[in-house]
Order: sequence, then C-alpha cells, then structure tokens
Amino acid sequence: MARFLASVALAAAVAAPSPAVNAARHKPSRLPLPIQTFTVPEGTRLLVVAPHPDDEVLGAGGLMQQVHEGGGTVRIVYLTNGEGYPEGVRVEEHHESPTPGDYRDYGRRRELEAHTALEALKIGDYTTTFLSFPDGGLGKLMRSYWSDRRAAYRSPYTRRDRPPESKQLIRATEFRGEDLTQELAQIIGDFHPTLIVAPRREDQHVDHCAAWYFTADALGDVRRVDPAFSTDLVTYIVHYYSWPFADDGPVLEPPPHLRGGVSGWLRLPLSKTEARAKKAALKRYRTQMRVMGWFLDGFARSNEVFSRPGPLRVVLPDRRAVCDDP
Ligand SMILES: [Zn+2]
Repeated sequence: MARFLASVALAAAVAAPSPAVNAARHKPSRLPLPIQTFTVPEGTRLLVVAPHPDDEVLGAGGLMQQVHEGGGTVRIVYLTNGEGYPEGVRVEEHHESPTPGDYRDYGRRRELEAHTALEALKIGDYTTTFLSFPDGGLGKLMRSYWSDRRAAYRSPYTRRDRPPESKQLIRATEFRGEDLTQELAQIIGDFHPTLIVAPRREDQHVDHCAAWYFTADALGDVRRVDPAFSTDLVTYIVHYYSWPFADDGPVLEPPPHLRGGVSGWLRLPLSKTEARAKKAALKRYRTQMRVMGWFLDGFARSNEVFSRPGPLRVVLPDRRAVCDDP
C-alpha cells in the first residue's frame, strides 16, 4: 500500500475562520481570547474521531445529541478497541497475567459497551466504525511502523499485527501508519462530514495525540483527491495533567495554561436532559467506570469545551517524538 508522503496544508482543508476570529488573531495582544459559545448548525454531518471507546462520549456526548436534535447525522470512528489496558483486563478477566485472548475479549467487550452507551444518548441512526488498530500503538505507527518497508507493528497485548478481517475497510490493511491514514481518508471521503471532532494534539495520551495527526494526514489525502472538499474541524481534549478532575464544579472550564487555538476556547452548553443523557452513557461503560469512574465523572458537566486548530502542516511519518511515545 504505497502512498506518497503527506505534506498537508491543513488550513486549506478546513473552513475559514469567521472575520471576527481573523481580526482577533491579528491583534498584537497575547491575552487569551474570550471563551465563545459553540453553536451547532442545522443538518450537521458530524464525524467523531475516538482513539478508544468512551472518548466519543467524554469529549462530544453532548455535541452528538445536539447534532441529532438539529436534524444532523452522527458517525463515530473508533481507532482502537481500547483493549491494551492491563489493569482493566485484570479486573474483568480475573487473570493476574492476562493472555492475548483476554485482551481480545476485553476489546470486544468495550465495543459492545460503546453501542449501549450510544443508545443512552438517543442520537437516532448513528453509524459506528471500529477500525481495531492497536491500543497504545498509534504513536509507533506514525513514526516507525509507517509503510510496508518493514514488518507491521504487532500489539504486545493481543499479538495481532492487523485488524480482524471483518474490521478491515480496505483489504489487507495491517498495523501500519499509512494503512490507518488510508482507512480514515476513506471514511471522510465517503461520509462527507461538515464537522469533524478529533482529539487535540496536546492531549497527553499518546493515542489521542496520534489520532490528531492521523486525522490531519487523512484530511490532506481527501483534499488531494477532492480539492473542493471542506469541513469545519474542532478538537477535544481528555488527558491533560490533572484536568478536569482537579475541579469538580458544575461547569467544565478549559484546561488552564492551554490556549484555545485560533478561535479561543469554545463552550457548548448542554441542557439538563443532554447532561443527564451524557452521564447515563458514561455509566454504560461499565468496564471503565469500575477502574476509573472518578475520571469519567469529571466530564459529566453542564457543558463541553472544544477549540479550533490553526493552520498546521502535518507530515507523516514523523520521526520526531511529537507525541512523546517512548
Ligand atoms: Zn482514550
């Protein structure tokens, strides 16, 4: 699956910021931009990029509901099944030394949980796609295991080096970076989202950071095939120091000391019903609630926060440790 290296002017692939945002960006001041309210346009076609099952609800459980309420369509793509979590597997499978089979079972369990969680959100006819790439390995795919010049990455958990055949969107997909980019590009090209929500690159979980780079790389591929393609793109963040659990107020404030991109932070207020549904959906992730319920609860608030990335050139593979992968 040879693919030309991506050199992506991502700015061209995303909708232009509003004149107000442009004006704010050119101010000499380095003061943070005020938080703006994010409103969801009617008929939005939303694509949520989730590194693991539960990230879609943590980051965008309320947004998905508002897209549905506005007559829009929701599609979620899970890059991994979240199976590479030894602590969680030990609790579920009752094995002190989990086997590859235990890890695979755990991934299937998390996939089922995702379906029950999304049902709790009541977002109509949504679509899910589980790409089943390796949990904990995405950083390595964007650096070392990029192309078929070397053997595919093998998960130390499941011992797989490719997604199960039933999960391969493109035949012969293996655990290689260019394969993941191609599958993501196919989803974007088929679905034609008007809004993509992806992890922010500053997220401290390596899979989340890598998910940003893969999304940006895939957008570049789509744009090369269809130069007229454009979509809004916003990011969410899940892992960032002690945010958000250090503060347990009803409002989810943006992470301190992290700038809100070209737009400033965007706040999406949730109705009481939406907030309740988001909380209910998180509870359906029972495997996660058992081991880190305190963390998930930190996202069940009266709003969600997003930011809009500025122009960014993404070149994959990237040999630098941009996501701090050891
Ligand atoms: Zn995650």
